[in-house]
Amino acid sequence: TEELLRKSDRLSVVGQLAAGLAHEIRNPLTSLKGFLQLMQAGVPSQERYYEIMISELDRINFIVSEFLIIAKPQVTHYEEKSLHKILDTVIQLIEPEANMKNVQMKVCMSLEPIVVSCSEIQMKQVFINLLKNAIEAMPHGGFVQIEVLKGPTDVTIRIVDTGTGIPEERLTHLGEPFYTTKEKGTGLGLMMCYKIIESHQGKIEIRSRLHEGTTVDIILPFIVK
Ligand code: ADP
Ligand code: MG
Repeated sequence: TEELLRKSDRLSVVGQLAAGLAHEIRNPLTSLKGFLQLMQAGVPSQERYYEIMISELDRINFIVSEFLIIAKPQVTHYEEKSLHKILDTVIQLIEPEANMKNVQMKVCMSLEPIVVSCSEIQMKQVFINLLKNAIEAMPHGGFVQIEVLKGPTDVTIRIVDTGTGIPEERLTHLGEPFYTTKEKGTGLGLMMCYKIIESHQGKIEIRSRLHEGTTVDIILPFIVK
């Protein structure tokens, strides 16, 4: 049943992302059509149109391939990966949804490279789930800050939102399967996050203040080079 739970959760995360992705793909498609119509009408100086069209196509290609990677069934495969690259990709993926929901995202991390031994797909799933939770906690918009804090042996990825917060009596239930306060929630996202981070020898700490917001810390060991 555990495998089933993970599968259904993965589907739901992908399903939830689909709305944002569809929106994000429609924009470059609309602009591509616009440029083609201009060219069809024989408008001059078409050279630079090609450049824009190619970058719009690259954007669509990026979105679709990332989406497929995340949707694909996973084999846990640990590799040395750049935390910055993983976070950059996740932020690009979640940005359309944040924009649609009036949520501003801010990232604070030094340029210093940090390498983590991890399953890249699982890491992305964790960050996407946590960022989605943050966005969903702000129905009227707000701010999400992502901070990367490097300690001597561990790195903390801190996600701070200005959302509804979680009452104290609920904090202890987080991560229990099917524990959700959302009409269309699964209550499986956090459970999956806890499991993935635990299997990476890390931990997740959640602090919250009602009506003020929530802070989620993901603490992971990094590889010292
Ligand atoms: P789901 O998002 O499907 O409800 P999760 O396991 O991701 O399932 O989250 C469980 C519950 O934890 C949510 O329904 C919500 O009540 C609470 N929660 C999680 N993250 C946050 C957050 N950032 N702010 C407020 N509540 C949160
Ligand atoms: Mg969730």
